[in-house]
Amino acid sequence: MDRLPGRAAQTGVIRSHPPGQPGKRSVCSPTVIRINQHYRKLQAGYLFPEIARRVSGFLRDNPDASLIKLGIGDVTEPLCPAIVTAMKRAVEEMSVRDSFRGYGPERGYDFLIDAIIEGDYTSRGISIDRSEIFVSDGSKCDSGNIQEVFHRDVIVAVTDPVYPVYVDSNVMAGRTGRANDQGQYDGLVYLPATEANDFAPPPPDQSVDLVYLCSPNNPTGTVATREYLRTWVEWARQRGALIIFDAAYESFITDPELPHSIYEIDGAKSCAIEMRSFSKRAGFTGVRCAFTVVPRELMGADENGDPVAIHSLWNRRHSTKFNGASYIVQRGAQAVYSAQGLEQTGAQISFYMENARLLRESLTNSGFTVYGGQHAPYIWLKTPNRMPSWEFFNQLLDRAQVVGTPGAGFGPSGEEFFRLSAFNSRNNVEEAISRITTAFS
Ligand SMILES: *Cc1c(COP(=O)(O)O)cnc(C)c1O
Repeated sequence: MDRLPGRAAQTGVIRSHPPGQPGKRSVCSPTVIRINQHYRKLQAGYLFPEIARRVSGFLRDNPDASLIKLGIGDVTEPLCPAIVTAMKRAVEEMSVRDSFRGYGPERGYDFLIDAIIEGDYTSRGISIDRSEIFVSDGSKCDSGNIQEVFHRDVIVAVTDPVYPVYVDSNVMAGRTGRANDQGQYDGLVYLPATEANDFAPPPPDQSVDLVYLCSPNNPTGTVATREYLRTWVEWARQRGALIIFDAAYESFITDPELPHSIYEIDGAKSCAIEMRSFSKRAGFTGVRCAFTVVPRELMGADENGDPVAIHSLWNRRHSTKFNGASYIVQRGAQAVYSAQGLEQTGAQISFYMENARLLRESLTNSGFTVYGGQHAPYIWLKTPNRMPSWEFFNQLLDRAQVVGTPGAGFGPSGEEFFRLSAFNSRNNVEEAISRITTAFS
């Protein structure tokens, strides 16, 4: 032990207030509680704070500029009437003694679980048991928390570029060493998603236990085909590996041939966990509701190599650390599956996808190389003349007053790429297109 509890008393220091403040003195004993040192390996929330810093610098120099933000992946359309009506009714129920509800089931109410099974799975020929659905308050939490149920020594693979939550949650858990100067952590396996592999990296040859796949993909906007998912499922089954499949953007898929769920692939229930969210699908980024599917047949191994159901571990974690999503919110999520809810959320998604089409086609016509935007609300733009992505960020801000997200922020393979989001008003998207094409033609 190199730190003694008693040291706290010894190092209790007298601090005077900074100059200019009233001259009171107070005794302050800093705690010597040991911290989780793995948190120190995290890179200081680099991407979005850096964007905000550059934007506010620009606005300081150009106070009259009207910026269009196509950067952060947040929805812009308000909640649909069917959802609002359901949530209002739920609030009314809560206001009456006889229909008031306190704690609900941790895994979610059956009315929502049944709607999910019927609307998302049975309708696609997939059989999921009620007990396999875990309703939560977001996929960010679920995708960050899931790693808890696996051994610290499992080898984790992620795509590059990647949604940062998968990486950071494993760093916090101590599964990595330090980051190199490109921001990649020692001990993680990175699978580059590049133009050469159509942004669909194949399964690795090296040993991997856990892989995170996201389709339709944030940030590249590309979507997994049935054949591609089959390759991964076969790989996982051969190797005894597990796939975390993040389908947060599944409802943006427009081609009916494309899979929405990894369970559309035979054998996936024995090697994959699926996560979905109402955030992008129904405008719930501020309302908060999502779910994770953990099939009962999905097995891990204990220290003797004996099989243990992952379901039992996740169920234990979920019911220990989570007390259920709000009743009102779950009623809102249920309404997404009603006839009106499907029609209204469908119209919203079509609206965003028309924005994506406009961005994609106009930018292609003016000479940009553009990916994504067909089954996802993101455009993955190749920067002109292999310009570094932060340099393109600056130029776009200066010359078009448009804010996007530099690809390098999602990983080194994102360098020379740029993410534009289709979440905005039609006016803003059209104005952004006109400014970008004028500035870069
Ligand atoms: C937006 C998003 C989610 C959804 O997160 P919530 O916490 O449910 O809002 C999950 N995964 C990815 C890749 C996302 O972009």
